[in-house]
Amino acid sequence: MAIATTNPTTGKIEQTFEAHSEEEVERRIALAQSGFEDLRATTYAERSGWMRRAADILEESIEELASLITLEMGRPIAGARAEVTKSAKGLRFYADNAESFLASEQLDDPSVVGASRAGKTYAPLGVVLAVMPWNYPLWQVLRFAGPALMAGNAGLLKHASNVPQAALFLDTLFERAGFPTGAFQTLLIPAARVEGVLRDPRVKATTLTGSEPAGRSLASIAGSEVKHVVLELGGSDPFVVMPSADVERAATVAVTARNQNNGQSCIAAKRFIVHTDVYDEFARLFSEKVAALTVGDPFEDSTDVGPVATKSGRDELAEQVRDAVDKGAEVLAGARVPERDGWFYEPTVLAGITPEMRLHLEEAFGPVATVYRAADREEALSIANGTTFGLSSSVWTNDDDEEDWFVTNLDAGAVFVNGMTASHPELPFGGVKDSGVGRELAAEGIREFCNVKTVWKA
Ligand code: NAP
Repeated sequence: MAIATTNPTTGKIEQTFEAHSEEEVERRIALAQSGFEDLRATTYAERSGWMRRAADILEESIEELASLITLEMGRPIAGARAEVTKSAKGLRFYADNAESFLASEQLDDPSVVGASRAGKTYAPLGVVLAVMPWNYPLWQVLRFAGPALMAGNAGLLKHASNVPQAALFLDTLFERAGFPTGAFQTLLIPAARVEGVLRDPRVKATTLTGSEPAGRSLASIAGSEVKHVVLELGGSDPFVVMPSADVERAATVAVTARNQNNGQSCIAAKRFIVHTDVYDEFARLFSEKVAALTVGDPFEDSTDVGPVATKSGRDELAEQVRDAVDKGAEVLAGARVPERDGWFYEPTVLAGITPEMRLHLEEAFGPVATVYRAADREEALSIANGTTFGLSSSVWTNDDDEEDWFVTNLDAGAVFVNGMTASHPELPFGGVKDSGVGRELAAEGIREFCNVKTVWKA
């Protein structure tokens, strides 16, 4: 894919960018190494001050950044502004908490290991390569960069090729905020050149947020180099509605959970699994509300759903829906490519999904929901867990026993009860099964890129 800003609302190429030469990549890796050595010698207080300044810069640039997000990947402008605000909050969270998350810990009774003092301390790993997606072009990157830099690591960002202007803003953000030169930089390179960077001995670890094939490829290279890897991959999250739930509220939240960010969120609810007693009511309310969404120019404040970010993404979505409809799925809303410029797809609800349909097993990365009927909680759980993914999940019930049962038995990195999944800096984030390995955010996220060093003294 060319490195370019292409407006998904119009399909027009706005600006193209030359990839960095091999010499420039070498220069940047060397700078990252020296940036790491400078950064690791600084104190938490210094890093916190710079991190807070980076958050301030984000907020001072909110209109510029929100417009950039909307231009490059089509997120409705109100959501784009919220992404900037959330990113600043995430940076401040690590400015405030990194030191306590990484404080040394001692055994209360070191004599059990024959020591006078024994415990653990956290040290940075070095230069970390972050391969990031376009769907939240700031937040995905900054939820890595905040903790990584606070721990004393340097970051090299390979951003998605369709958000180069966001990538270039991030290239200078941390240096502008006061961090040592080289502590965080962007590499403008295509995916094919990631391997060379990851195999460089100065790069000590890597993280990728993106699709499963990209994750598998990166992890196999990291494995062959014995380098630590964190993967945040796709999801096809279940949204389970049981009879004791507030069905009207569940249907309203379901619309946002599926369609926010034009349906392109890894943690979007994608499969709606509804107990038969409330199925008809939920399916009617949900499809009416989806059909009422305003699809249009994402720069308009009144727009709920903008375009899919890329033409190939929109075409893939249309193909998944066509496959389901050809095999007998029932269309409750949408299922059409609107006649207009850009890469739009009408918010869609499909019922009657069967195992031979692609949508039953594949992630739908756009505004397409599938609704399933379940006879009882066992069947609901079996459908919910019947996927190769395991990112997050949502369950709607007002029965405490049922709530505990779903929390225990859902195979997912998170369970949200009577609410939609969202990421919070205060809570760990990540998946099981093919949705990934490792965790971001909270204390777990900052410790991923640390050497947990055992210290024992006679
Ligand atoms: P993608 O194609 O995997 O791209 C993500 C990043 O990986 C881009 O920077 C891309 O670069 C790079 N890349 C692609 N193939 C690669 C390879 N073989 N080796 C190294 N790097 C490679 O993902 P996408 O389709 O743009 O993004 C959507 C996917 O991301 C969905 O599956 C979604 O669920 C997932 N996602 C997961 C999370 C999470 O936290 N779990 C969050 C957001 C999105 P180029 O752009 O240059 O190809």
